[in-house]
Amino acid sequence: MMRPEIGSGRRETITNICRKKMVRVFLVAFSLLTISTSTTVFAKTTIYTNGSIITMGTHNSVVEAMVVRQGKILGVGNSDALSRRYGRGASVVDLEGKTIVPGFIDAHSHFPASGAFIQGHLADLNSLPIGDVQNIEQILEKLRAQAERKKPGQWLLGMGYDDTLLPENRHPTKEELDQVSTEHPIWIYHISGHLGVANSLGLAMAGIDKDTPNPGGGVIDHDPVTGELTGLLEENAKVFMDGVVQKTDIWTAYQIAIAASKQYLAAGVTTAQSGHHDTLKTMAMMLMGNLNLLPLRLVVWTNSDVGDKRAEGRFNNFFTRIFRKSWVSLGAVKLVADGSIQGFTGHLTEPYASDFHGDSEWRGYPTLPRDELVEQVSKYHKAGLQVAIHGNGDAAIDDIIYAYRIAQKNHYREDARPLIVHSQMAREDQLDAMAELNMMPTFFGLHTYYWGDRHRDTFIGPERAERISPARSAQERGIRFSLHSDTPIVPMNPLLMVWNAVNRITSSGKVLGEKQTISVMAALRAVTIDAAWQVFEAKSRGSLEKGKLADFVVLSENPLENPKTIDRIQVMETYIGGVRRF
Ligand SMILES: [Zn+2]
Repeated sequence: MMRPEIGSGRRETITNICRKKMVRVFLVAFSLLTISTSTTVFAKTTIYTNGSIITMGTHNSVVEAMVVRQGKILGVGNSDALSRRYGRGASVVDLEGKTIVPGFIDAHSHFPASGAFIQGHLADLNSLPIGDVQNIEQILEKLRAQAERKKPGQWLLGMGYDDTLLPENRHPTKEELDQVSTEHPIWIYHISGHLGVANSLGLAMAGIDKDTPNPGGGVIDHDPVTGELTGLLEENAKVFMDGVVQKTDIWTAYQIAIAASKQYLAAGVTTAQSGHHDTLKTMAMMLMGNLNLLPLRLVVWTNSDVGDKRAEGRFNNFFTRIFRKSWVSLGAVKLVADGSIQGFTGHLTEPYASDFHGDSEWRGYPTLPRDELVEQVSKYHKAGLQVAIHGNGDAAIDDIIYAYRIAQKNHYREDARPLIVHSQMAREDQLDAMAELNMMPTFFGLHTYYWGDRHRDTFIGPERAERISPARSAQERGIRFSLHSDTPIVPMNPLLMVWNAVNRITSSGKVLGEKQTISVMAALRAVTIDAAWQVFEAKSRGSLEKGKLADFVVLSENPLENPKTIDRIQVMETYIGGVRRF
């Protein structure tokens, strides 16, 4: 996502090189010891009857029965007809009226980061309704508990605190974190993931002191009166910390991935798409997929380090070549054009609704200057790669559209499917441009639920808040779009995403932007077939049709029946390739 521009230093580089070498040796050794494990074949035929099977096929048909064999769908339709045709020797599952939908396709998250909460690697610092933190003191307590388990010198890490939900209405400070420990470096992420706070030792280890200049596209925060560091680092100023959080041994990484897989499968997700992975993480995920160690399918969006290698044909596809049927595949190259609205780093054309640092004209800022964005988008587009560009504020979306227009003008591609990730503040004229250029927005729709009240009252004001994540406007233009949750930013829950897109109710129970609500079927498409389409996988998954993968979810109720209570529907079972995984 962002270039390390501060203080990582020579020691860090050497450690990285050793680490990479070790991992490479490990990967080769492990792969040589393992026989090629292509997808397990299940010869038995199973007929699911007497249900409501929402196929999400071309005509959005709802049928009674489905036949599965060898991990694929043989047919869907009428119970009697399918039983007559395939019944001999088949096992029959009576759904007793339960509903089946295609396995949910996560359109954008940061798999497997949410597993780190379970593993205790990261303290969960979320306030209600996600977590239980009520004030800054409780944040410090959670970090103290971690300090008791970790040796001096080891990092204490947390994620998810939300300054605007804390009664103190501010970020914790480095002095407060110093009260937890001066012997452990500390780093805690803001809920946006775009900023966070370090203690004094953490800042020193990142090579930051009060004279360190701001990196491009980032801010090192200072107290306006004393000029001292507050500990708060924004956007490109926290790149060093991203590396710290992601650094773990391979066994812990495996445990985190398994923990995250369990969460996703319990939510009905059968294909995850992972935010942005550097070379090491990409290789680790590919290896896990190739060895059949991952219990769900995964599309990895790579960082520009892998992107550059892919563009130049230098990325090591060794594992892909020897294990051809892996559940892990490579997707887009991820770029980041701005920050987050709730962190005041999203880049807007009109000022935020509240003053920021006393500035009533504050509009956020780009994390990549426009000319650099143009250069990077053109490079990957020309190389035939898909780009997925994070853009929240409308000024950032202007930059993204501008960059893609140039790339497409110079290197025209018929069906490149560039993604604008979040597209939160997309204006009507920008949706026109997306339709014209065949760009696809993926919306973080749950913003209306988790932050909707504060978008209206604090960040952007009622008019713009009612238009965030404008799914209806996109639909009216015939633009395909998907919905995502950016997990671990908020928990993985596709049914809550569907409920939210249909009702747009905030966590305090108020409707925000009724004009942008969509139908249940349209919302279901955005977490199944259209989310598969966005990564060129709609031929294999995303709907329940003959010949497609038997990835599906059994639900306690039919979401088409009562749009108001979709959030209460339970995922009963999750199947991948016809095999129950949850
Ligand atoms: Zn993200």
